[in-house]
Amino acid sequence: MEKLEQFKGYLNKIENLRQATRLIHWDMSTSMPKNGAPANIAALTMLSTEAFKMQVADEMKEFVEVLSEPHYIENMDDISRKMVQEYKESYEENKNVPEELYSRYVSLTSESQHVWETAKHANDFETMKPYFEEMISLTKEVTKYTKPDKSTYDGLLDSYEKGLTEDNVDRLFKELKDGIVPLIAEISKRDMPDEALFSGRFSKTEQEQLGNYFLEVIRFNFDAGCMAESEHPFTLGSAPHDVRITTNYDLKDIRSSLFSVLHEGGHALYEQHIDPILVGTGLNEGTSMGIHESQSRFYENILGRNKAFWEKHYGKVQQIIPGYQDIPLEYFYRGINKVEPSLVRIEADELTYNLHIIIRFEIERALFNGTLEVADLPAVWHDKMKEYLGVVPDCHKNGILQDVHWPSGMFGYFPSYALGNIYSGQFLAQIEKEIGSIDQLLLEDRLSDITSWLGQKVHQYGRMKTPTEIIQGACNTGIDAKPIIEYYTRKYSKIYNL
Ligand code: ZN
Repeated sequence: MEKLEQFKGYLNKIENLRQATRLIHWDMSTSMPKNGAPANIAALTMLSTEAFKMQVADEMKEFVEVLSEPHYIENMDDISRKMVQEYKESYEENKNVPEELYSRYVSLTSESQHVWETAKHANDFETMKPYFEEMISLTKEVTKYTKPDKSTYDGLLDSYEKGLTEDNVDRLFKELKDGIVPLIAEISKRDMPDEALFSGRFSKTEQEQLGNYFLEVIRFNFDAGCMAESEHPFTLGSAPHDVRITTNYDLKDIRSSLFSVLHEGGHALYEQHIDPILVGTGLNEGTSMGIHESQSRFYENILGRNKAFWEKHYGKVQQIIPGYQDIPLEYFYRGINKVEPSLVRIEADELTYNLHIIIRFEIERALFNGTLEVADLPAVWHDKMKEYLGVVPDCHKNGILQDVHWPSGMFGYFPSYALGNIYSGQFLAQIEKEIGSIDQLLLEDRLSDITSWLGQKVHQYGRMKTPTEIIQGACNTGIDAKPIIEYYTRKYSKIYNL
């Protein structure tokens, strides 16, 4: 099929542009000298604009329309068919967005994010207010073109997690909330684990060695990835052959980098295990943010905060980090599983983290359904934090202005994080049903059996399957919050003697 081959050649050009933008992004975050920003931003902007233009160009239109004709599509293999369908869908979504509206939206988001960086530190909500207002209004306008059959908020959810609706999320989050709020209340009556011994001085070299050790443990492929240091940890890649992660070292406490490595390592394993046959089709990436987060959280929390995991590996921590030789395993285990309501999402524990997300979901939907005004955001934030977590921010920096998502226009993204937790609970339950108890598997050093299961049921497919198809295929059921609630209840009842 000559046309199909030509299309693949066209996609290859887009992919090469994208790979170049990834490398610039990587370099800017890990090693760029301070004065290098303007030149690199200019190159990055040019290359990503070129890639976007190619996606909505007449040539793309011609390819997807011709290749969607029955005599072409019916004679294609599954992968090519999916590739054509995905590009057609994305072309259809974007083709009607007026260019002027699109560029106004792009420049507003970058300006808003830039202003936010200063406003956050200056604790200045008033400056951000007009940006939020315009961003919401432009987002509504753009979504009218990209998702004309959906409400704005459903359209936004769908763009991060295909098929997801506000009603689904509402139902799942209600169940999650009902399951964890009483648990957190019970825990708060118990003695909190002591964490005093965790603070000290830990060199970067020690921590890097520790990170590399745990990447080996989870079998991160160093021939297809590497680790560097950046301000905020992230994973970036051209899956499956070049998947890179970063971490950030806190020289006073090793836990921050340690769990970042396990988290980003989980993201990276997902991408490294995508079937290489998908290279060049645009399908060689994670299928959604929710499924991606389910993998990072699986390695960070379900495995990385498991007692049996540490029974196996804690000796190595004590060997690499001499300052830990006087910290008993039990103390360490309780310390990495401390549950305590706090103000900042990214510092929250495994359990209360979900409530941070639920609060954001409730606020977002209200903003887009017209029941909440931007001016009332700080007050609503305050009330919800008090109601769900029992703590209230003393400034906007650790309140409404703490996250980059809204200032950069990423509305509808937050639910992915809690969905990731929900999915990870479902995968856990299914693994226990099919191969055996996680504790036992970890004690027997069979972590690779767990990874193979995830590789086979989740990782290999990339975007060949939607999130719901992945869940259905792996767990024979729809999305279900019960398994993660059961896991939380079982685990924390034991730690806190509930
Ligand atoms: Zn993540």
